[in-house]
Amino acid sequence: MDATLNQPEPRYWEKLRLVAETLKLVEGPIVVASHVDPDGDAIGSSLGLARALRAMGKEVLWVAEPPRFLRFLVEESEYHEPLERLPEGATLVVLDSADVARVAGVPVEGFVINLDHHGTNPRFGHLSVVDPTKAATAQIVKDLIDLLGVAWTPEVATPVLVGLITDTGNFRFSNTTPEVLQTAAELVGYGVKLAEITDRLQWRPPQYFKLMGRVLSTVQFHFGGLLVTAHVTPEMAQEAGATEEDSDDFVGAIRYAEGSVVAILFKDRGDHVKLSIRSRGGVSAQNIATRLGGGGHVPAAGATLEGETLEGAYPKVLAVVEEELRRAGYL
Ligand code: 5GP
Ligand code: MN
Repeated sequence: MDATLNQPEPRYWEKLRLVAETLKLVEGPIVVASHVDPDGDAIGSSLGLARALRAMGKEVLWVAEPPRFLRFLVEESEYHEPLERLPEGATLVVLDSADVARVAGVPVEGFVINLDHHGTNPRFGHLSVVDPTKAATAQIVKDLIDLLGVAWTPEVATPVLVGLITDTGNFRFSNTTPEVLQTAAELVGYGVKLAEITDRLQWRPPQYFKLMGRVLSTVQFHFGGLLVTAHVTPEMAQEAGATEEDSDDFVGAIRYAEGSVVAILFKDRGDHVKLSIRSRGGVSAQNIATRLGGGGHVPAAGATLEGETLEGAYPKVLAVVEEELRRAGYL
């Protein structure tokens, strides 16, 4: 594994200042997009930036399909349908997207600015600021909005704080640095209703809980409990009246199995299996994901196994986990 992968962006402020100056000078449309299966950081960082750029008088197309649990943040008129082509002379800003293939709803063309915090990001684009030491892409957007000199309002600050809240698991994960808490304090000072937002972010529809019951019945322990797995299939979702996105965060429930250092949720999506991987205690979810063609962070990563079935995926994934457990000295 490339040792430079998870290092901080060496010229963070210099490069971010260049991004800010570039955006200030842009006269044409600015397209703002994030990644497929968007999470709170994808939606929060991109919406916050889109609102800030609009406040500067820029013509902004925010291309996004917010999942149900984040729709409360967004006005109906704010988002744009997926684009086949970018408008003439457009500047594209992609956020939180670990690689080109994960960018959602837009072709990656024109002048491309890539803002992200995934170590596995190949640093694509004409300008890229990729800093894996940032807890969320929303942190980079917070710094960028400061550099743009846009006045902070609750409308701009709220989605940015949502990115920080969701990527730090409500300020509980190991990425909750003093910088995160200081930034959060600052954003709350700009009028974000923290308690209301954190409560609202946890709301799920009734079918989510019915599906969770089925998913938890598939829990298995491997390697003496070091690995905990569960899976979800389209049939289970159908029985519960749920959709694909309803299963997105179940890995967050199984990761707390006592004694486990890796948790993996297998999502059977018909023509592919999507993995959500979490780790602790010196084990790298990122190592496991990259060996399976995916990517992400050391404690939280994912991969998409194209053309794979659950039956085929389990033994392949277990073999890779075994190798990582050996590397980390558990076996
Ligand atoms: P989640 O399990 O929440 O979907 O994803 C955890 C982390 O892994 C996220 O930061 C996400 O960007 C990354 N990730 C998830 N799925 C994939 C994938 O298929 N490919 C890559 N490169 N990264 C992924
Ligand atoms: Mn993120």
